[in-house]
Amino acid sequence: MADAAQDSIFTKIVKGEIPCHRIFENDHILAFLDITPLSVGHTLVIPKRQAEKLEDLPPEDTAELARQLGAIARRVVSATGAEGYNILQNNGRAAGQEVPHVHFHIIPRRAGDGLGYRWKAKPAEQDTLAELARRINATDV
Ligand code: AMP
Repeated sequence: MADAAQDSIFTKIVKGEIPCHRIFENDHILAFLDITPLSVGHTLVIPKRQAEKLEDLPPEDTAELARQLGAIARRVVSATGAEGYNILQNNGRAAGQEVPHVHFHIIPRRAGDGLGYRWKAKPAEQDTLAELARRINATDV
């Protein structure tokens, strides 16, 4: 666990220093309601271990998040009467990450709720994709 001086707001929640509305907890992860929800039941699922981005997290914590996400989402959707949900996970400020502690958003959805999610996708040339895949495959970080 991180030093108090470096604790993220979510680590403070894990430590019980800041309150939350908890909906799931085990030794490795915690789920609680988002304080500024996009929809009723908007939930955050976090590793208890503090790490800023997904790639910073030890694989066992990532695995535990993956193991529990679906079951937590099922309960949230059932309890709120939602019809579906989005999972959102932001990494880096450019991607909209405000809290530097890995978190998955579960955002319950209803048809016509007006939230939206479609981004402006553009078709790419096959040659461009092939060159990009070659570059990524040659990258070892
Ligand atoms: P992101 O933009 O992906 O970093 O999302 C951070 C999320 O954390 C936002 O949806 C905030 O509403 C939420 N949040 C920040 N502080 C708290 C808190 N104390 N309790 C619950 N949710 C929080």
